[in-house]
Amino acid sequence: MLIAAIYFGGLGLIVGSFLNVLVLRRGVMSLHGRSACPSCGKTIWWYDNIPVLSWIMLRGRCRYCGSSISLQYPLVEALTSGLFVAVGLAGFPEYLFSLHAALMTLGALVIVSLLVAITVYDMRHTIIPDEWSYSFGALALCLAFVQAPNIWTVISGPVAAIPLFFLWLVSRGRWMGLGDPKLALGIGWLVGIPLGVIAIFASFIIGSLVLLPLLAYERLVTHKGEVSQASAGLTMKSEVPFGPFLIASCLLFWFAQLYGIALPLSMFGL
Ligand SMILES: [Zn+2]
Repeated sequence: MLIAAIYFGGLGLIVGSFLNVLVLRRGVMSLHGRSACPSCGKTIWWYDNIPVLSWIMLRGRCRYCGSSISLQYPLVEALTSGLFVAVGLAGFPEYLFSLHAALMTLGALVIVSLLVAITVYDMRHTIIPDEWSYSFGALALCLAFVQAPNIWTVISGPVAAIPLFFLWLVSRGRWMGLGDPKLALGIGWLVGIPLGVIAIFASFIIGSLVLLPLLAYERLVTHKGEVSQASAGLTMKSEVPFGPFLIASCLLFWFAQLYGIALPLSMFGL
């Protein structure tokens, strides 16, 4: 069990490091070629490229020019590592003895990686790359269909996506982009119904819990006239990426499912 945790934790660090590169270079440059400091252009050697550790050792600064290295790098590596451990331990030890279980765990690891990449990309650009959400959706549908090959499995994606699609439609894309319903398709397939629909609604609650205190804080500092220092420029009209909230909610319900944790859903009549 401990060995499995260490193995998946290490694997997650390496994959997380790759996801950072994937997010930064998508549509900008090829995935091949060595990493270089964006400020001074010096090649980053392997000893300065060890996930999480190097960032801490360098105190978040380039070894050569001293310009700061984004906190995104260690955070994404640590997050991916944590999620990989969670997936790895959920299937332990079945995947050691059954090819079916091993493939399911592999699929879950790819899904986790896609969701991390989508989260970071959406936070940076407030756009979700279609090819990533479609890959997530296709994989989620495959995993679900292997376990329960019936019509309910197939419609669970569209059913979860319809509320967000409706929001996109009535607001003509002002409240919500089309990327969010596309992402919700995969969420529905991953956790099924009714859980998929509940996960979508829960993401609005998670979103308000995060955004309302932030908005209140922004109002406070704006009134004091300290806008430039503490404020991130967030207002009621700001374009806030919704994908991260959808994904946070999805992971919450999915892991509860993987670990067989009973959720207090009696309020929904379930
Ligand atoms: Zn540099």
